[in-house]
Amino acid sequence: MTQATLAANTPTAVPKIGFVSLGCPKALTDSELILTQLRAEGYETSKTFAGADLVIVNTCGFIDDAVKESLDTIGEALAENGKVIVTGCLGAKAGEGGGNLVRQMHPSVLAVTGPHATQEVMDAVHLHSPKPHDPFVDLVPAQGVKLTPRHYAYLKVSEGCNHRCSFCIIPSMRGDLVSRPIGDVLGEAQRLFESGVKELLVISQDTSAYGVDVKYRTGFWDGRPVKTHMTDLCEKLSEIAALHGAWVRLHYVYPYPHVDHILPLMASGGVLPYLDVPFQHSHPDVLKRMKRPANGEKNLERLQRWREACPEIVIRSTFIAGFPGETEAEFEHLLGFIREAEIDRAGCFAYSAVSGATANDLPGMLPMAVREARRARFMEVAEAVSSAKLARRVGATMQVLIDSASALGRKGGVGRSYADAPEIDGVVKLLPPEKASKTLKVGEFTRARIVGTQGHDLIAQPI
Ligand code: SF4
Repeated sequence: MTQATLAANTPTAVPKIGFVSLGCPKALTDSELILTQLRAEGYETSKTFAGADLVIVNTCGFIDDAVKESLDTIGEALAENGKVIVTGCLGAKAGEGGGNLVRQMHPSVLAVTGPHATQEVMDAVHLHSPKPHDPFVDLVPAQGVKLTPRHYAYLKVSEGCNHRCSFCIIPSMRGDLVSRPIGDVLGEAQRLFESGVKELLVISQDTSAYGVDVKYRTGFWDGRPVKTHMTDLCEKLSEIAALHGAWVRLHYVYPYPHVDHILPLMASGGVLPYLDVPFQHSHPDVLKRMKRPANGEKNLERLQRWREACPEIVIRSTFIAGFPGETEAEFEHLLGFIREAEIDRAGCFAYSAVSGATANDLPGMLPMAVREARRARFMEVAEAVSSAKLARRVGATMQVLIDSASALGRKGGVGRSYADAPEIDGVVKLLPPEKASKTLKVGEFTRARIVGTQGHDLIAQPI
């Protein structure tokens, strides 16, 4: 049985992968895993061999006819494209003399794997057709996962988004939410921790929606069933992280009721008590015009409940000032929200039209000067709130992950506490240790006593 699995060609520069899936339903499931991963990483599929950057053939080796069909398909793909990765049952089959049958028949294939080998196939794809990167939509920084410092890494749990926020074009570019299989996500987390990662940053377009596209189906990790759900994901990540003395930090979480279930895990330290919740605004009418997820939720009350359940929690968020039609009263509502909700870390953009976004058609576009002025007013309030919260930390002792320290920290160093995500929040500036025996090493934790603040940063004495 042959199933050519292919989407329409679109005129973009992202790599296109041709994919042929042969064989039984188990092989088809493997194909789904590989295609899901390809899509999650931003690859496109090609309808034709010739139009692809490379071709993956998932083979069947069960009966002779199936073997012939698989070998013929590989031959066709090589003739029309030249770059072919072979996976599936035939890939595991020995030929005459004990060598690999596929390699004997088609020596020019790029790679051959057996069945259930999503990661090996993806490694071969990355080698021969590097991952696409779109600076406008990727959540991972341009340098990519592998180029983050060894001690922290991003873990993308899904791609795409089911929402249709009126200022955003990501869904039209990336499509609806596609969650990665939970087993793959946890496997990647484990590999990252084993390679020395001390802080794992969970990202997606909507981490709270993880698994919704697969109806929270049960997957497997370490031989046990695990649901593809944010709560289960966090529980398992916290267990794996604990084995390696590492942190787990959650980004892009929306204030849905089920997020409440993560709070006990934060209070017990399994997941960092830090939530990156992109509120974008506080006024219900603006949120409706923005078509924001969870726009009917009572965010202030939810935040208060979160703080009761976990007093240490730090909330980071981003906002838009001067959205089309935003009245002065609506903007004042936003300023009141920042003060009352005591948002620890807030970023703000003056609204700016994105080509193709439906918000462009909304009435009441404000002059750029008004948008910028509101952004400046917002930042003044947000910084006052943030500074007051930072000042309360003086005298406390915090765990700090060291990001830089030359000469074993003799001149001090720079690190981050649980309250600081890399690149977007402040840092903890570490003074030279008082004890000669105390050293600071990148990627290690140190306890530090907070002795002062400086803008968004803390000053601390390692102890
Ligand atoms: S939640 Fe809204 S802003 Fe975020 S990716 Fe989806 S559509 Fe865009």
